[in-house]
Amino acid sequence: MKETLIRNAHTILTVDDSGREETQCDIRLNGGVIAEIGRHLQSDGVIIDASDCVVTPGLVNTHHHLYQTLTRAVPGGQDALLFGWLKTLYPIWEGFGPQEMFTSAQIGLAELMLSGCSMSSDHLYLYPNGSRLEDTIFAAQELGIRFHPTRGAMSIGESAGGLPPDSLVENEAAILNDCIRVIDGFHDPSEGAMVRVGVAPCSPFSVSRELMRDAALLARDKGVMMHTHLAENDEDIAYSLAQFGCRPGQYAEELGWTGDDVWHAHCVKLDGQEIDLFAKTGTGVAHCPCSNCRLGSGIAPVRAMRDAGVTVGLGVDGSASNDAGNLVLEARQSMLLQRVSRGADAMSAREALRIATRGGAAVLGRSDCGQIAVGKRADIALWDVTGVESAGSWDPAALLLAGPTQVKHLLVEGRQVVRDGHVTGIDLEKAIVKQNQLAQALVEQL
Ligand SMILES: [Zn+2]
Repeated sequence: MKETLIRNAHTILTVDDSGREETQCDIRLNGGVIAEIGRHLQSDGVIIDASDCVVTPGLVNTHHHLYQTLTRAVPGGQDALLFGWLKTLYPIWEGFGPQEMFTSAQIGLAELMLSGCSMSSDHLYLYPNGSRLEDTIFAAQELGIRFHPTRGAMSIGESAGGLPPDSLVENEAAILNDCIRVIDGFHDPSEGAMVRVGVAPCSPFSVSRELMRDAALLARDKGVMMHTHLAENDEDIAYSLAQFGCRPGQYAEELGWTGDDVWHAHCVKLDGQEIDLFAKTGTGVAHCPCSNCRLGSGIAPVRAMRDAGVTVGLGVDGSASNDAGNLVLEARQSMLLQRVSRGADAMSAREALRIATRGGAAVLGRSDCGQIAVGKRADIALWDVTGVESAGSWDPAALLLAGPTQVKHLLVEGRQVVRDGHVTGIDLEKAIVKQNQLAQALVEQL
């Protein structure tokens, strides 16, 4: 692969161990990794002029349901709480198939990439009408984003006392077999991997205790990561106490769902003991501030988690509960929300950026990503700070206080996947037309 030289950056926020920041500095990329950082570097490869740009590591999204970009702002779900919201959307999702999964993944990933995201996980937990996990993997490969899809699942339908309709749940043996199929087919454990697969039962209220336990055993046997929703709101805690006789943290621990190969989405309602458990075991958290606001779930105790040593990353969550998928705005929201609960000094713009980059990479088990340092993967976002959003800023590198909400350029594995504000891998306008046609068809089916 040709070299790339990012030349003369206004500022580089390396987010390395020392938090080093450089001005008028270059970065040379070679073979998908960062080869050199310094001034007046030479290269005969592609040159990107970064004199107008603040340069950061690519942001990392640790929780999403990409398929939901086809059900944004559904009127019946706009003002509902979590469980009521789910019941509004389940009948619509029953009409999905492979085309819906593919196109909505294209749209959701493109939106993320334009907001600076170079690596995203996804949690796909329903497979109607022949949908498969690879419908989303193929979309990610076209766009060139680093992708951690998880094979989600629901197995307890309405007739068995669960929340989802029976038509959206699967047999537990079939779920585990399909987990094996997609891990064997797509998971790449090597450094610099573009696709890593995880195992992800939807939530404790949509699968059995046995499936939670067996999924953990399978994931550890295969050496892949595990993901689910946990302690999202008060209803969730009440359900856990009523059904399992314990809080979510204890439930997770008993079934093998703690450890540095596990990350849980939301965790809004973790108590002090559960925070200590997560810190001690290296269990990660996908903090989704906009979704938590949107559904009125509460403010996750991120300050307390970080102080206790919990690994925290950010997630935009599914577009049906956000309804946007802009990761840099998500980072800003995480900063603002901690300030609402703990005061103006509770989280700085730079700490929130660190959570959005290093934090997310750590949550996904990617020590090779998330910072600008020699030898790390070349996942880099360039933010033009000459626009109206930065005008008058005394500190353009404080991007989350005042700065652009879309990238100028984005590189993943050294390849330019966003150039001058446009994704390079697909015809995005065509994908948007297709997405709107599919949404319209779903409306007509109802
Ligand atoms: Zn979610």
